[in-house]
Amino acid sequence: MTAKSAAAAARATVYGYPRQGPHRELKNAVEGYWKGRVTADALRDTAAGLRRSNWRQLADAGIDEVPTGDFSYYDHVLDTTVLLGAIPARHRTAVAADPLDGYFAMARGTQDVAPLEMTKWFDTNYHYLVPELGPDTAFTADPAKQVTELTEALALGLTPRPVLVGPVTYLLLAKPAPGVPADFDPLTLLDRLLPVYAEILADLRAAGADWVQLDEPALAADRTPAELNAAERAYRDLGTRTDRPKLLVASYFDRLGDALPVLAKAPVDGLALDFTDAAAANLDALAAAGGLPGKRLVAGVVNGRNIWINDLQKSLSTLGTLLGLADRVDIAASCSLLHVPLDASAERDIAPQIRRWLAFAQQKTAEIVTLAKGLTQGTDAITAELAANRADLASRATSPITHDPAVRDRAAAVTDADTHRSLPYADRTTAQRTRLGLPLLPTTTIGSFPQTTALRTARADLRTGRIDTAGYEERIRTEIRDVISFQEKAGLDVLVHGEPERNDMVQYFAEQLTGYLATRHGWVQSYGTRYVRPPVLAGDISRPAPMTVRWTTYAQSLTDRPVKGMLTGPVTMLAWSFVRDDQPLGDTARQVALALRDEVSDLEAAGTAVIQVDEPALRETLPLRAADHPAYLAWATEAFRLTTAVVRPDTQIHTHMCYAEFGDIVQAIDDLDADVISLEAARSHMQVARELAAHGYPREAGPGVYDIHSPRVPGPEEAAALLRTGLKAIPATRLWVNPDCGLKTRGWPETQAALENLVTAARTLREELA
Ligand code: GLN
Ligand code: ZN
Repeated sequence: MTAKSAAAAARATVYGYPRQGPHRELKNAVEGYWKGRVTADALRDTAAGLRRSNWRQLADAGIDEVPTGDFSYYDHVLDTTVLLGAIPARHRTAVAADPLDGYFAMARGTQDVAPLEMTKWFDTNYHYLVPELGPDTAFTADPAKQVTELTEALALGLTPRPVLVGPVTYLLLAKPAPGVPADFDPLTLLDRLLPVYAEILADLRAAGADWVQLDEPALAADRTPAELNAAERAYRDLGTRTDRPKLLVASYFDRLGDALPVLAKAPVDGLALDFTDAAAANLDALAAAGGLPGKRLVAGVVNGRNIWINDLQKSLSTLGTLLGLADRVDIAASCSLLHVPLDASAERDIAPQIRRWLAFAQQKTAEIVTLAKGLTQGTDAITAELAANRADLASRATSPITHDPAVRDRAAAVTDADTHRSLPYADRTTAQRTRLGLPLLPTTTIGSFPQTTALRTARADLRTGRIDTAGYEERIRTEIRDVISFQEKAGLDVLVHGEPERNDMVQYFAEQLTGYLATRHGWVQSYGTRYVRPPVLAGDISRPAPMTVRWTTYAQSLTDRPVKGMLTGPVTMLAWSFVRDDQPLGDTARQVALALRDEVSDLEAAGTAVIQVDEPALRETLPLRAADHPAYLAWATEAFRLTTAVVRPDTQIHTHMCYAEFGDIVQAIDDLDADVISLEAARSHMQVARELAAHGYPREAGPGVYDIHSPRVPGPEEAAALLRTGLKAIPATRLWVNPDCGLKTRGWPETQAALENLVTAARTLREELA
């Protein structure tokens, strides 16, 4: 590309930046405020300081337009609820008494008042607080936070662009408030909501905003004609108001699809589109719509969700094509940089050569600025950056880390037979019954037992060298002895070792697999003040040595009852990691599956008769658009079967999932061909049992009868009642008795009581059935 083809100067921008600060200062301040250690004023000062330093960082790096309003004490969707005055009735008194405390009450609940429900933000690992709306909801504009942050950035001499959740996405993310009929459609509130948005937009303009960004990621998922019509009406209404700033409507996480022509025709001033994975689809749709004449296009060419460097040359070529389709093309990350850690250069434990493959928020910012410069001044202006980028991409592409011939040969040699058990379930179950000799309605747990302070301290002591490995392992063995002896006394049928050695169900395995990297400072917000450090799946995956066998066999040596081996499945390993982007996800899943398959084999060879492979993330990684579901489910279920199908017919494979809505993936659950599946079901009163039955699910299932998200102990009668409901859907010969999920977040006293009640309930039902 030459300098001449770039008409206007391309601007560099982002939609949002990590909120927590380089040392998670925000987490410390907010949690300190909750504990009474930090005053409200000190919390506000910390927050303002973090915003200032983020804006300075962005501006110093060369970002032309900085986002404002993206900062949050807890969650930006909750901030939108406050912005729109949509405070749920039960929180109004608290919010009126003290807005900050009321805000945290909505986020976390209090002794007497339940918080808002929390759920995943599209297909990311960020969780937002679900707006609760009803026919009586009255919206009122409360733009103080947005205006304050805009004013702060203006005072620094910057060009700010306030970023707001758009009206259509806000309503589509909402659910009926408690007491409102379940079929209430929040979208019916659109006409009431638009004047409030209009008022906020006018206020922002009056406060000095030239542009305002309205985020509409919900339009990148499948939408009905009525929903598209709502988008059309919303932007016709907001766009034709006179006292408004310029409007940029942003979408991300997938292609805009049918919503693209709707927004392209709307009287708004610009669109921001995702040109990462969705690049081809968005380019085609944009061309088909006749481009964006007279409008600004913000091209999200730098991936805002993964942690890999950009292919600058490829991005420049996409941008070159886009120049012909819009009045002006600016450059951004595909979505807020909230989803990536702050600074890859802080990762001193990662070899410098590999560190150069990584781009966290700071590095992505630099990439955006480089691309803007290249687009405006021509590639000659960025020769050095392009050369360095080419070298880094080549080093990654040719590295032995990303290309292990042994792993690749093995993955290529996988046959259909490798992904299928040698006998059908009907024959396997006979063999398993003979081998295990379990009673009717067998009882078990999901794997983890309480992760006590003592266990966490032992792990910390090992890290700091206060105890040695031998001392730590003795501590773990003691815990396993306690867990086994409790389960025997309580009368459980299939025991577990309790997972005391695991810090986290993904990290524990990532640390032992070749091809994974760990970060030291790679924190990303999961929700509120909870941050996680996902491992980086960087290369070809192999398993140098067994990972769990000695703990399971130790546990088995202490009891005559069967002890379940316990592994995290391939889909969940990918879902809760930063995954390599240089090959299809299905290929990566297959490598992980082969490594786990070796572990399954070793467990079986060591005498383990029951092996559970957890896939809690199977449902949550489902792509946003239904058209992409079959391809995803095909590789996901194949990876699970590749992991497990290696065992003999008389070895029983369990799986576990915890997500309330399984209805739309029952066929995939069936395709896993696990002998037994345990699922979360207590709060939904066995809904999942009915869904499995309606599907004709042919194998064994344990819908949970104990809600482990609460310290509440269900009595034996309550558990028995749930089992009776379960028995209406699943025959007694195929029904298992277990809690909803692992017990790691629970305390010992309630765990003991609840499991004893669960065993009592199973015994009661066995007598009733006899
Ligand atoms: N086996 C794991 C545990 O019990 C499963 C956790 C999960 O489903 N998230 O902790
Ligand atoms: Zn679970």
